[in-house]
Formats: sequence, structure tokens, C-alpha cells
Amino acid sequence: MTTNNKIRNFSIIAHIDHGKSTLSDRLIQECEGLTDREMKEQLLDNMDIERERGITIKAQSVRLNYNAKDGETYEFNFIDTPGHVDFAYEVNRALAACEGSLLVVDASQGVEAQTLANVYHAMDNDHEIIPVLNKVDLPAADVDRVKRQIEDVIGIDTSNALEVSAKTGLGIPAVLEAIVEQLPAPKVEPENPLKALIIDGWYDSYLGIIVLVRVFDGSIKKGDQIRMMSSKTATSYRVEKVGCYTPKMEEVDSIESGEVGFIITGMKNLSECNIGDTITTEKNGTEEPLKGFKPSIPVVFSSIFPVDASDYPQLKEAVAKLSLNDSSFDYETENSPALGFGYRCGFLGLLHMEIIQERLQREFNLDLITTAPSVAYKLHMTNGEEKMIHNPADLPDVMKIKTMDEPWIKATIMVPDEYLGGVLSLCTERRGVQLDLTYVGSRAMAVYRLPLNEIVFDFYDRLKSVSKGYASFDYEMDGFEEGDLVKVSVLVNEENVEALSFMSHRSQAEARGRAICAKLKDLIPRHMFKIPLQAAIGGKIIARETIAAFRKDVKAKCYGGDISRKRKLLEKQKKGKKKMRLFGNVEIPQKAFIEALKTGDGNTNN
Ligand code: GDP
Ligand code: MG
Repeated sequence: MTTNNKIRNFSIIAHIDHGKSTLSDRLIQECEGLTDREMKEQLLDNMDIERERGITIKAQSVRLNYNAKDGETYEFNFIDTPGHVDFAYEVNRALAACEGSLLVVDASQGVEAQTLANVYHAMDNDHEIIPVLNKVDLPAADVDRVKRQIEDVIGIDTSNALEVSAKTGLGIPAVLEAIVEQLPAPKVEPENPLKALIIDGWYDSYLGIIVLVRVFDGSIKKGDQIRMMSSKTATSYRVEKVGCYTPKMEEVDSIESGEVGFIITGMKNLSECNIGDTITTEKNGTEEPLKGFKPSIPVVFSSIFPVDASDYPQLKEAVAKLSLNDSSFDYETENSPALGFGYRCGFLGLLHMEIIQERLQREFNLDLITTAPSVAYKLHMTNGEEKMIHNPADLPDVMKIKTMDEPWIKATIMVPDEYLGGVLSLCTERRGVQLDLTYVGSRAMAVYRLPLNEIVFDFYDRLKSVSKGYASFDYEMDGFEEGDLVKVSVLVNEENVEALSFMSHRSQAEARGRAICAKLKDLIPRHMFKIPLQAAIGGKIIARETIAAFRKDVKAKCYGGDISRKRKLLEKQKKGKKKMRLFGNVEIPQKAFIEALKTGDGNTNN
């Protein structure tokens, strides 16, 4: 085995907002991947939603040519990765394809929870890591303190750390030189049979399925006949196009051992290309697949329904299209007596859920009702069967259930000292078990085991409010464990509204039931009759509120006699009604479904 000293493959890892995408921009510019005119900020965030929210969702790969000080030209393949916990699987894919990482840390903020999580992933992949302290242009930047913190918390040497401002461009040439000098060149086996790792795959409406690969052994060129090693079927594909992003899409003759690039094979369906799988040639291929990586699994579930039932065909199409581009988005049809036809969807986390919902509404122009997020439960039935349920509506008769398990997570929270008290009591309140508590300077790092159910229930909002936004949070799944769990149903005017029901630990059922009734009282407008709102476990009512009767006279505002004005007002009211759902004879605004289960500030458990 030799190395190809002219290539460097690396990722950029960081906590969200520490400047990965901005640093990528600078690297591209410095290597003249694009002219100044073609350059726009956070170039690699090419989805509208990424640009608006300033976050990276999909990992992006770019090939650049760098003319180094030693007179040689190096090929850089780098992958910008998403920083958020939900997208850890994207980060892992990117890392498996590289030999090194630039660890970007905001010099005014320091190490955060996702900095740590990402560094550990990089270490697991045996990466060489170069610490890059970014934003040194800011007055609040404290390079020495952050260096010490990196050494103390992460335990990596910072004597070779670089100090840069991705914004002003300060220190960028040194980053490029460090990549050449400090990061390892890939090991190559050009003569061996083809072994390529599938890093990612997505659907392009012009080109079909594009597969991003890292070639370890051999090479791929146009016309090759290839197969996926994990596939049971003997399907083989002809490679129709081979290329890379510079960051513009460019065709090349081949992807050689040690390189990253994409291939297009005429594959019809994203499900044919398993992320993490190994590609080899149909004939004389390798027998030994690459290690690959763990598949992503959905952990948060929610149902999506069109506000207007006649929009269902559009929703169906939208969901199918979106899943072409996001292989980690899971869905199945659902038929709810109250909300009609829709989909039960699985997501990687809350942010992933929010993003999918927003993309459906925005890119496909759909009005949607989404139910509260929940987790998967493992049921042990009295007859010995085991069952997973993803929807409180699917919970079988409790008499048939022996025990229920819920998913737990291991969470790492980093927070300035002065907010630690609030964070600890929040974790305790959410049934957390403390595993570790350490201090680094004036920051504390708390490690907790927590039930995931407690996280999907407004944990982020609460964490933000108790820490004034200074806490950072990261988690990994940590198995299932038996819990005393109950299903809380919500009755509006004595009618069970299944879409509002939720699972809860018994100790919190009453408080949450009470909170949701109180919320609904504000969210459901008064009607001509009194409306009782109740929360119940089985047949037992645990909380109750009443909405008093009222006749809303919309015309009251129209004192004049102008009939067109009156008509306009009634028109407007009618439109508002379209966004309502009728349950029995009570109209519930769609907003109520989303808001009701988002039990806000602190009224949950006291
Ligand atoms: P990412 O989430 O890690 O990809 O971070 P981004 O590259 O999107 O940057 C987050 C924010 O920090 C943006 O508003 C950038 O303009 C800003 N930023 C990035 N690098 C610097 C820097 O060196 N100095 C300053 N002052 N701001 C920066
Ligand atoms: Mg970014």
C-alpha cells in the first residue's frame, strides 16, 4: 500500500454557528474554485431553508486545487458537515470518507456540546485533527482561554492550532498550508479491485440519482459496470457519468483511489443506493466490503395531515418527492377519524422534523396539521409478543400489555456556571439521572441519562430559557428501559380527539393533562354552548376545564351601514373557518394542535 501525497481529504467539524460554512467559502475562494462574481455567502448552503436559517443540513463535498508554497499542486476534497445533533449521521458519513478534520471553534464562545460530539466522531474515525480558532476578529475572542479549554476538555494538543477570521480572511493561507503539512495523505491501492464507499445519495430532477462516493481501492470510470455489495439482488449498473464538485458540477474521466466524487448510473430509486454500502465492479470485484457505518434510525415521530382534505394527493406527491432527497425521512400512510388521510412520519430529531414540515409547506405550498412529536415505545404483551409503536393512537388495549419500554438518551450539556442550577433542576424534573459533572474554567459539563420522551416535550425551549440561550446540548441514543407509562387522552365536548392524545410518564400525566386543558381553553374559541375539556387516562378523568358559551358577533365592529364592508368581514371569517377542524360540533383551530402540546414555560411540573 502506498499513499498519494498529492491528495488531502478532510472534513470541517464544529458546533453550529462557529463558522464552518464561512470557512469553506474562504477555502473555495482562496483556491479559486469560483470567481468573485460567482461567490455568495455560505455558498454550500444551497437549500433556501439552509440559507434562511443559516444552518447546514446536507453535507457537501468540494474538490479544490491548491498551489502550495512548495510549488506543488494538491487536490483537496473537503466535506462541509452539518453541526446539529440531528444530523450526526451526516457528519459520520463525511468523516468515514476522510483522513483528517479541521476542528473549528469560535474563539469568542469556546467548546460547545456539539464540538465535543463531533470531535469524538472524528477520533473514532482515526482522524488527524487541526484545531482552528475562528472569529479572532471579534473583540470578545479569547484565544488563550479557548486553547486551554480545547486541551482540558478534548485533550488535543493546541500548539499547532491556527487563529483565523473566516469573515475577514485573516489566517486562511496558513490553514491551506497546514492541511498539506499536517493532514495525512490517503492510502491508495490503484491496482486492487474497486472498493468505493457510498457517502451520500440524492435525487436530481435532471440527472436522476447522484451517488457521492469515496474510492478507496481501484477506480471508477465512465462505462464501468458496478454493483452494490450489500444488495441481495444481482442488479448491476452502468456508470454513465463521473464527476466532482469544484464546487460547480464537473465531469471527470475517473475517480481514482483516494479521491471523492460522484457517479450517475441511471438508478431509478434512492432506496437502491444504501448509504454506507460498498460499490465494486460487477466482474472481478472485491469480496470484502468496507466497514461502512451505522444506518440512521428515526427517533421522533409525528403525523402530518392536510388542513384541507382535498389536498391529500398533493401531500402524497410532496412526501414522496421529499423522501427522494432525504433517505432518513420515514413515512407511512395514516387514517385518522378526526384528521382524515395523512402520514405518520419518522425523523432523526426535532430539528429534522421541523425542517421537513417547513419544506413541505414551503416547497409544495401545503397547509398542514402536524401532531405533537412522540417517540417509539417497545411493548411487551401478555402473550409474550414484542411490539414497537410509533403513534399513541396505535396503543393496544392496556389489559394486553405487560410492560412498556421507552427510549433513553445520554445527553451532554455545557453551560456557564451561573446557569448550572437551572439546568440541573430541569434535568431532574425530566427524570434525568446524572452520570457526570465536571468544570472547565467557568463552564460546567453535565452528562445525564434522560428519557427521550422528556426531550421531545419542550426540553430545548426550557433549556434555552433556564440558560438564557447559553447552554449547548448534544445526545446519543442509549437503549430502551421499562417505564411506568400511560396514554393521556383529551376529550373536547366529551369527544375523544385522538390527535391530541399523548404518552407520558405516570408521575407527570396529571400536570401535563392539566396544562393541555388550560392551553386548549385559550386556543379554542367560544361557541354557542359550553365546552368541557378533559384529560383522561383510560376512563379516569385527571384534569378538566370549561369554555364558557358565547356568541361572537363579528358584525359588531361594523357600525356603519356599508354592506360591502360587512360582507368582507364575513368573508374573512369564512376563510378563518377553513383552518378549523370540526370535532363533534366543536371547531378546533389547527393552531391548537400544534400549540396545545407545546406546553410552555414551567407550568408543567409544579
Ligand atoms: P456554521 O453553522 O458553522 O456553518 O457557521 P456559519 O459559517 O454559517 O457562520 C455562523 C455566523 O458566524 C455567520 O453569521 C457568519 O457570518 C459568522 N462568522 C463566521 N466566521 C466569522 C468570523 O471569523 N468572524 C466573525 N465576526 N463572524 C464570523
Ligand atoms: Mg453551515
